Amino acid sequence: VRELPGDPDTGPGIRQVGQAWSRVDPTPVAAPRLLAYSAEMARRLGFTEADAASQEFARVFAGNALLPGMQPFAANYGGHQFGQWAGQLGDGRAITLGELVNEAGERWELQLKGAGLTPYSRTADGRAVLRSSIREFLCSEAMHHLGVPTTRALSLVGTGELVERDMFYDGHPEMEPGAVVCRVAPSFIRFGNFELPASRGDEALLRQLVDFCIRRDYPQLRGEGQALYAQWFAQVCERTAVMIAHWMRVGFVHGVMNTDNMSILGLTIDYGPYGWIDNFDPGWTPNTTDRHQRRYRFGQQPQVAYWNLGRLAGALSLLFDDVAPLQDGLRRYVETYTAADRDNTARKLGLVECRDEDIGLMQALQDLLTQAEVDMTLFFRRLADLDPLAPEPALFSEAFYDDGKRDAAEPELREWLSRYATRMQQQDLPELMRRDTMNAANPRYVLRNYLAQQAIDQATQGDISGVTELLDVMRRPYDDQPGREAYAAKRPDWARSRAGCSML
Ligand code: AMP
Ligand code: MG
Ligand code: MG
Repeated sequence: VRELPGDPDTGPGIRQVGQAWSRVDPTPVAAPRLLAYSAEMARRLGFTEADAASQEFARVFAGNALLPGMQPFAANYGGHQFGQWAGQLGDGRAITLGELVNEAGERWELQLKGAGLTPYSRTADGRAVLRSSIREFLCSEAMHHLGVPTTRALSLVGTGELVERDMFYDGHPEMEPGAVVCRVAPSFIRFGNFELPASRGDEALLRQLVDFCIRRDYPQLRGEGQALYAQWFAQVCERTAVMIAHWMRVGFVHGVMNTDNMSILGLTIDYGPYGWIDNFDPGWTPNTTDRHQRRYRFGQQPQVAYWNLGRLAGALSLLFDDVAPLQDGLRRYVETYTAADRDNTARKLGLVECRDEDIGLMQALQDLLTQAEVDMTLFFRRLADLDPLAPEPALFSEAFYDDGKRDAAEPELREWLSRYATRMQQQDLPELMRRDTMNAANPRYVLRNYLAQQAIDQATQGDISGVTELLDVMRRPYDDQPGREAYAAKRPDWARSRAGCSML
């Protein structure tokens, strides 16, 4: 805390200029109980199994006790929400406990989500419900194992308290069990942390925060002044592009890509109404509040990230004499994304390299998958098994959601497969290697919405084993796990109308 730039607020209310954070302790909960934890993350932070099993662990990561040296605080940030500047809005329920440096010298920030009121809670309660906490806990770990840059999750602790939520927005709130997730990342700084001081014309704080972020989170950068800032912004653009390309590769839809939910380290952050693509559909969004505009739909994510970087550039322009270096950074985003997308095409299709005409090959496939309602994950996984000498549409039968659409699409799929098989024969890549390349880019298991929902329903009945099991499956998403075929199954019919709902 001593290193944090800006001042903490000193009294009641939110001071305007100069204030980047507030010193605040978590509010203790009635009956903390560890429901689940990530063994990898615990180990990485230096906790033993015995530590994790202790009552103290549950107490600390519920916010009921502090370890020596912890000086908890809440960050003050703003953001653009659904395209509009929304002013100050966070952090009303995330409290950082402190930083931990592990034996390897890695520095990790530990942050509780749902730890009680902060000076930024406004009219809300500072709490999180079990269902959304399970979703955040599972998905951050799943994303990590999928190779997607993300904040991590250490623990999921039940609070023994009920939280009031209007789940269906019908004016009839219900009581739900509460929980606290301890999430972990080198930094939780968001675009919105920079936008807020910029919006107040607080150039001094903006500069302090940029300097702090570079020093702490981008120590490899050299240089000074505007040249250093320009390099840093370009790096942020690059990392954001890499992250988005991964989302597109695995079929992840964030759902609320507001600038307050964009990490300055290019990490996936804030797992709210996110969802996973079942049938390939660039127009799909899991966010029911975005169902008309569909701003944050799957296929739009690369453009939205660019727009968000534009807002960050706007904030940073206060520190530049000339915007050209910021425009260069934005160009870096486009270049990096384009290259990463080509790389995805090559890896997903098992190509040694992505030629220009392969972009058309992928586009044609995506159009087909969309029109015929084909499961993205099942299709790409199956494609690795295709015999280029005898490409058969029947191989993909189970990836379709609708038999009528499957039959109608058969001729088109046959044609695409033969085009693909021809392309395979133009390269000199042994079949086994092609399959391995593809299976390393096309997961067998993703955190399908209905799987998470089943684990949540079970946990709500008091049985956490579904969460533990799902966490374990998601530790090896690229491996075929015998006996766990059910976790790779496409969305069942009953889950269709619910997909993406009731998850805010
Ligand atoms: P989100 O749209 O989920 O990213 O939320 C935007 C901001 O709203 C967060 O940064 C929090 O500061 C605040 N917020 C959301 N839920 C709560 C809550 N239950 N209590 C206090 N603040 C909240
Ligand atoms: Mg948020
Ligand atoms: Mg959220």
